[in-house]
Amino acid sequence: MKSINPETGEVVGSYAEHSDAAVQETLEHAVAAQRKWRGRKFAERSAVVRRASAILHRDKEQHALLMAREMGKPLEQGRAEIEKCAAACDFFAEHAEAFLGPEHIKTEATRSYVLFQPIGVLLAVMPWNFPFWQVFRAAAPALMAGNALVLKHASNVCGCALAIEAVFREAELPKGLFSTVLVSSRRVERLIAHPAIAAVTLTGSTDAGKSVAATAGRHLKKTVLELGGSDPYVVLEDADLERAAETCVASRLINSGQSCIAAKRFIVMRSVKEKFEQLFVEKMCGRKMGSPLEVGTQIGPLARHDLRDALHDQVERSVSVGARLLLGGQIPEGPGAFYPPTVLTDVRSGTPAFDEETFGPAAAIIDAADESEAITLANRSCFGLGAAVFTADAPRGERVAAQLEAGSCFVNDFVRSDPRLPFGGIKESGYGRELGIFGIREFVNVKTVYVK
Ligand code: NAP
Repeated sequence: MKSINPETGEVVGSYAEHSDAAVQETLEHAVAAQRKWRGRKFAERSAVVRRASAILHRDKEQHALLMAREMGKPLEQGRAEIEKCAAACDFFAEHAEAFLGPEHIKTEATRSYVLFQPIGVLLAVMPWNFPFWQVFRAAAPALMAGNALVLKHASNVCGCALAIEAVFREAELPKGLFSTVLVSSRRVERLIAHPAIAAVTLTGSTDAGKSVAATAGRHLKKTVLELGGSDPYVVLEDADLERAAETCVASRLINSGQSCIAAKRFIVMRSVKEKFEQLFVEKMCGRKMGSPLEVGTQIGPLARHDLRDALHDQVERSVSVGARLLLGGQIPEGPGAFYPPTVLTDVRSGTPAFDEETFGPAAAIIDAADESEAITLANRSCFGLGAAVFTADAPRGERVAAQLEAGSCFVNDFVRSDPRLPFGGIKESGYGRELGIFGIREFVNVKTVYVK
């Protein structure tokens, strides 16, 4: 398995896949370690997770550099990602006990209550786009809940996977509770089937989610699936257009456009469309594309050349069926998997930029006659991850938010994950939740105790 720097083509690291015997040993260690860990007090677990947070802070620079080299994330964004991981560790270290404490329910029994107990070893199949955050947002609550975690990371970020394992080792997490297996996706099916694995969490594409869910279903193992999205941002005619355009551009360009919750479809009232397009294009032009290692870079290369080419193909297919290109749309000369900020307008349902997930800096502007049509268009998608509404009338925004088919709806701001709030999707964006009290309760046995 190889990590290749998408800016330079340099091989960052080559890794031999773990053998079946090595994987078997990892799984056995995980089971044995989890049996002990489940009996540890919350205070003992949180001491370890807080140490992991401190190590992340200390080594922020080196982790940001590793992400820049393995998948092209600009350094500044990498530093922010590491800080967010540390914040999630601190959050779950502090709140897990309250989230998972017994809940008493009044019945005719002397005492009846619910316990939230760990379920065992989780398999985490993770993507490359936020190589630290996706792992920590699953690992911090899982470990605090008393579970163990085996990570199968994306094949192009093996270095990040091993660096995360090293963070937990240095934090003195008992051996076996967090391990990385370097295996290709072809071997995931066997991992899921293994009796050591109690449940699976996958963050990745909808196709990977369907495949993992089918295998897990055959083995009756619970899954949480965080999949793709095509988040609609509805701009109503009374919105502060300057602010809306700024926020929409910021959201479209998160992680060089490679985020499940990056805004992808901008559904704008026809009466303000022209003005919005002008502001949106101006702001897209103002973003600096360049080396992820340079200060001030806002858009790095995409993570792999094949992903850049797939995005370009979506843009070209969209134009061929009637979308109009306002900006970008050309692969730049020279090395590196770069793709410029691109704006398509007059995008309709049936256009690739409307129907498919675009994973890069390409925006689709869609016009709507009124609020009701905007809601219909926003919901005309197989995805349902995030959505946003922009309006000067916050109660109106909340009414629209309530009608959008998504796991998160933000009014006058862009969708983001936050350790305090549940995060996840509906429809082909997946099911189950991460983060917050709902996230930590996904992988526990909700056990009823009834005392006569
Ligand atoms: P991906 O190709 O689906 O890969 C994700 C992970 O799944 C990788 O570890 C990959 O391993 C593995 N995988 C791929 N196909 C598999 C299969 N058939 N069976 C089992 N495992 C399989 O996705 P990606 O390109 O890394 O990430 C981008 C996608 O993730 C986008 O669709 C994005 O929207 C989504 N995402 C969703 C969220 C969310 O919270 N909803 C967050 C971030 C990203 P290999 O690398 O070895 O193939």
